[in-house]
Amino acid sequence: MTTTQFDAVIVGAGFGGMGAAIALNELGYHNLAILDREDDLGGTWHVNRYPGLTVDVPSTTYSYWFEPNPYWSRLYAPGAELKSYAEHVADKYDLRRYMRFNTVVDGARWDDETQRWLVTLAGGQTLQAQFLVLATGYLCQPKKPDIPGIDTFAGTVLHAQDWDDDYSLRGKRAAIIGTGSTGVQLIPKLAEDVADLTVYQRTPIWVMPKLDLSFGPRTQRIFARFPATQRFVRLSSDMFMDFMTTLAMWKFRQLRPINTIAAKIGALHRFLAIRDKELRRKLTPDYDFGCKRPTLSNVYYRTFTKPNVHLETGGIDRIEPDGIVGRDGTKRVVDTLVLATGFDVWESNLPAIEVIGREGRDLGKWWRENRFQAYEGMTVPLFPNMLTQASPYAWVGMSWFDTVETQMRHMRRLFGELQRRGATTFEVTEDANARFLDEMLRLLDDSVFRLGNCATSRSYWFNGRGESPLFRPTSVRSAVKAQERFPLTDYTMA
Ligand code: NAP
Repeated sequence: MTTTQFDAVIVGAGFGGMGAAIALNELGYHNLAILDREDDLGGTWHVNRYPGLTVDVPSTTYSYWFEPNPYWSRLYAPGAELKSYAEHVADKYDLRRYMRFNTVVDGARWDDETQRWLVTLAGGQTLQAQFLVLATGYLCQPKKPDIPGIDTFAGTVLHAQDWDDDYSLRGKRAAIIGTGSTGVQLIPKLAEDVADLTVYQRTPIWVMPKLDLSFGPRTQRIFARFPATQRFVRLSSDMFMDFMTTLAMWKFRQLRPINTIAAKIGALHRFLAIRDKELRRKLTPDYDFGCKRPTLSNVYYRTFTKPNVHLETGGIDRIEPDGIVGRDGTKRVVDTLVLATGFDVWESNLPAIEVIGREGRDLGKWWRENRFQAYEGMTVPLFPNMLTQASPYAWVGMSWFDTVETQMRHMRRLFGELQRRGATTFEVTEDANARFLDEMLRLLDDSVFRLGNCATSRSYWFNGRGESPLFRPTSVRSAVKAQERFPLTDYTMA
């Protein structure tokens, strides 16, 4: 790196970091550094390459509004297409010139004297920036389960987030731990290859039917030639996702029957795939739809009816060098252990690096000692010139792009005003932050998180204190509108 002085340092080269860079470019900031600990861009879509990976939100919605891709091969595109889309965006918006890979950020500290962020890299180098953007995502710290004996396992361990493409599963006796969105995609694929598969499920997940449309070359040509046709599909998928999330989750108090209908669709989906009542019971969630991230699959349930697939729900006692011993004493001898055990959202994340603001305020510590909070899910008092993307109350809708583009709107209004006033620093006021937090808590009172039966869901959407501060519990539409009219007096500028 030749210079150490930047307009902005962005931590994370995924879709969030790239969105922030595009917004900053539009606003006239061109001296940027986008840092990422991985060896290429794309964030989660670079890291995740496990078999069966597809996006589980319609691709028309799971993409930037301003950069439609007519060439998705399916409504739910395979992971590799998302990685290619990320590369296309980086090239088209000329973002690669800012990117530095294999660059681990240790921490960032606001320096009052220079009115700059000092960003420290592993290895000791310090970069200075007027603005700091944390774009590390909610799901960036893979979690290894703390099951007794896991390190003694003598066979092969495959991590969903660190897949070994060269390892052949053919004919293996495998076990998988984890039945979240990742497990639901992996399990049917594993079952096709291995001789024998045992699935260790702790908590069943809501699995909904998937409208798995393929977009052939003809459809792609139509989308490319007449963009309005794809816009129409996008509007439909956007509206469907937004309606379902808002009605089934955030308006649970007023519209509980919508949540019940969603649950009934899930039950029918199970019923049609599985005739065995006991197997169906084991795969049935005992918590309300929407407490935990639901997912989509037309093949997951059917996989459990295959003779080479076994479902274990009694819990794991320990792992031995040659297999897994259940709490009931049953041992399954396996040579391959697949971990689809998700992410640490709360301990080593939020924030993913140490961030120290004015008056020595430590962001992670402050969030934990007080409440998780961020104004409009983006800015925090005593953290001038800092934007944090995967923050409390930032997550809007089910597509990460909704969150990123909502935040890009916030940036345009905020930085536009900063420039209009000829100012160089902004900071959200304590009062605005407190008002926003109150509003989020009030809205959450109507949600499935508060009123539903979520106790047994083990959902990462809740923290250890039983709070659920990740989502902004509103429609995407309402979040977008808020970015266009938040009071500019909510910020001090100097
Ligand atoms: P997850 O939803 O957190 O699921 C982790 C699974 O591992 C759960 O079934 C969990 O059981 C289990 N587990 C963890 N520790 C365990 C232990 N010690 N013993 C037994 N089981 C254990 O993680 P994920 O499946 O990776 O999905 C995370 C998120 O990534 C999703 O919610 C979604 O937002 C995103 N995602 C998106 C896509 C996509 O769009 N293509 C695909 C995959 C993931 P419990 O439930 O009992 O804790």
